[in-house]
Amino acid sequence: MSFAADFDRLPRTALLERAMSGSIAVARESLGRETLSLTDFAHLIAPAADGLLEQMGARSQALTRQRFGKVIRMFAPLYLSNECINNCQYCGFSRDNPIVRVTLGEEEIRREARALRAQGFRNVLLVAGEHPKFVSRGYLASCITVVRSEAPSVSLEVGPMETCDYEPLVAAGADGLVVYQETYDRSLYAELHTAGPKRDFNWRLETPERAYAAGFRRLGIGALYGLADWRAEALSVAAHAAYLLRRCWKAQLTISLPRLRPCAGEFQPRTRMSDRELVRLVCAFRLMFPDVGLVLSTREPAWLRDGLIPLGITLMSAGSHTEPGGYTGVDREKLHRTERGRIVELGASEWAANPATAPAATRQFEVADVRSAAEVAERIRRLGYEPVWKDWDQGLGGPAEAIEPAKLQPS
Ligand code: SF4
Repeated sequence: MSFAADFDRLPRTALLERAMSGSIAVARESLGRETLSLTDFAHLIAPAADGLLEQMGARSQALTRQRFGKVIRMFAPLYLSNECINNCQYCGFSRDNPIVRVTLGEEEIRREARALRAQGFRNVLLVAGEHPKFVSRGYLASCITVVRSEAPSVSLEVGPMETCDYEPLVAAGADGLVVYQETYDRSLYAELHTAGPKRDFNWRLETPERAYAAGFRRLGIGALYGLADWRAEALSVAAHAAYLLRRCWKAQLTISLPRLRPCAGEFQPRTRMSDRELVRLVCAFRLMFPDVGLVLSTREPAWLRDGLIPLGITLMSAGSHTEPGGYTGVDREKLHRTERGRIVELGASEWAANPATAPAATRQFEVADVRSAAEVAERIRRLGYEPVWKDWDQGLGGPAEAIEPAKLQPS
């Protein structure tokens, strides 16, 4: 049975009620347990549990150090294409947004991968919009091959596929798959996804299971905070993670906690999760899932990211660009604008005619932490942690390799 079937049987209303109105006394009891249930998780994210933040932080920190050591794994996103056939109202790449788009060619991808390698990265997340014409299965397989020659750990964040379509991508060298449900609220999901294959809620929800069946050994899930109520989303993420830990037990699981950022289309958040609530959610996930990786991206500002390092985060991106060609630029003649999915200025556009003033491809969203990877790594070291630039399990079974960017020469 898939998680989609399990999900509909979850007592979500009862759990949310506890997450909204649980007392500090029940939260304290939950905090004292060795193993937490979903009900305990609900108690720990309740408003009344705010008074326990310090204790939660201390326990979360101790657990994280015990299970992961004092290390932060580093990764960088490499955007391949911002073409997309879906309309997701909260995303800059949404089909109907009139933005500047491009799909990188092999040489551009190699340049981007080399630039990331020169910064120290050995763990790269390939990101692309969903577009069968521009981002085909064959295209993705060749992108993986190119990037694998520069980085031993390659993960994907691309449109969901069938298991048989994932298998060649695993064979090409991708070992991780990230797919956010965005919102676990079915009716809001239908409202926010107005066109394209992404409209199918269950198809997306079952993606990690199909990816696992295809051989991916790192799975990433999460909700996008700012759409539905954050407590409801966090409960669903926790239920999803618990399910995947049972069913996909050979995979390493990560949970991301992205909050909405400004992007093309100017979607305004529907709900809010404060910084303090984000901190508490990181701790609650750690207490519930001691061995699950917790991911924090450059969507969060530097001061908050630094503060969260000791509290439970294990994986961070740094120096990120969220547009194709963001690290080294693109062939400007390939840039084009689209309107309602149609290319309107290809070739004869103002920037094709005058490459010197050409814009870059449009970003998916604005990052908040604009520090370079080296600056972030330095900060991590100052906090007493070791930045680790590639995945734990790679590299002949030896210990994780820590490489200082300063010692690396651009290749
Ligand atoms: S969230 Fe993904 S699928 Fe939706 S518009 Fe953005 S890139 Fe496309």
